[in-house]
Amino acid sequence: MTGRDPTEAATDGARSDGAANDPTADGGEPRRPPTEGGAPGEPLLSVEDLTTRFHVDRVISAVDGISYELRAGETLGIVGESGSGKSVSVRSLVGLVEEPGRIDGGAVRWKGADLVGAGRRTLRSIRGAEIGMVFQNAKSAFDPTYTVGEQIVEAVRAHRDLSRRAAREEAEGLLAEVGLPDPASNLDAYPHEYSGGMAQRAMIAMSLAGEPELLIADEPTTGLDVSIQAQIIDLFRRLIREREMALILISHDLGVVSQVAERILVMYAGRIVERGTRGQILESPRHPYTRSFLESIPDVDRRKELSSIPGSPPDLGSPPSGCRFHPRCPVADAGLCDAERPPPIDFGEGHTATCHAYTDAYAGEADFEAGSERGREVTR
Ligand code: SF4
Repeated sequence: MTGRDPTEAATDGARSDGAANDPTADGGEPRRPPTEGGAPGEPLLSVEDLTTRFHVDRVISAVDGISYELRAGETLGIVGESGSGKSVSVRSLVGLVEEPGRIDGGAVRWKGADLVGAGRRTLRSIRGAEIGMVFQNAKSAFDPTYTVGEQIVEAVRAHRDLSRRAAREEAEGLLAEVGLPDPASNLDAYPHEYSGGMAQRAMIAMSLAGEPELLIADEPTTGLDVSIQAQIIDLFRRLIREREMALILISHDLGVVSQVAERILVMYAGRIVERGTRGQILESPRHPYTRSFLESIPDVDRRKELSSIPGSPPDLGSPPSGCRFHPRCPVADAGLCDAERPPPIDFGEGHTATCHAYTDAYAGEADFEAGSERGREVTR
């Protein structure tokens, strides 16, 4: 098979990474061994003040100084509306932001090793082997001219020293592991013969080819019908438990994220506005945006009207001053919220939110004592 690297194919579906087809990328950089584990107690992944901008006719501030850590085996959800920067933030981790986008500041460390300054070949080998990637619209991620099996076999062999026959057996095992029936014959099918749900399972299988320690799944259930979504969520839960992998799950759907992630980051307009455990975010959300976001989770029983967040996400080429949510916030304090960037407020046990309403300077009308009924419904 001489087509594109299928490990790259797993990431190409939702992007157009020029590096994937650039034969000169990192020319001469030797094939790297797996990253050694960092110092004891060191996080698997550390993101510090990450800033990614797109330099077009103006500067689009897509990710504006976000920080978080992830330890081995942890599950982290990143939620926010479309355009909140959540996808760009994870693509920035592994070198999948292409020009005119670039990382303008901050650090990303994978087991202690710097990824921002790493070469393309290093990033490609890490994201194929140590960090698996799953995106939405899996069907378009596969090369239509090769069978799914050929592409998974290639991915297996790219990261593990196996014969073609052994790699095919491994690929068959991976398809079985992700719940595809009759894996031997499905290996020989072409991508167009797969349904959307089957293709998503196959892409997840391919992401496991290098036996990753971290799986990044970006909107993996978007576009699938509700019953298939539930199956894919169950699959993620089983895989991270059985393989003891860490997971970063990106979604605009807090309901989806809350079924998998232990910790949740809420992003708005390129910034993290709230972070906490699943229980903290769902049962006692502190940020007005998180509260509005919770109210917008679809209620499958249709017991009440879905409320959408008024207004639109801001233009990140000229984001609002002060709190970026202030034009849409129902409890904004004019003169404070539109003028000063809100400080992070620590609610204890890792739960923080950036909001003026919890400071003495706030003279608005927020009453945040009541919990979120919708959040409690989601957790029931
Ligand atoms: Fe609303 Fe002000 Fe808090 Fe922003 S800082 S979320 S505008 S109350």
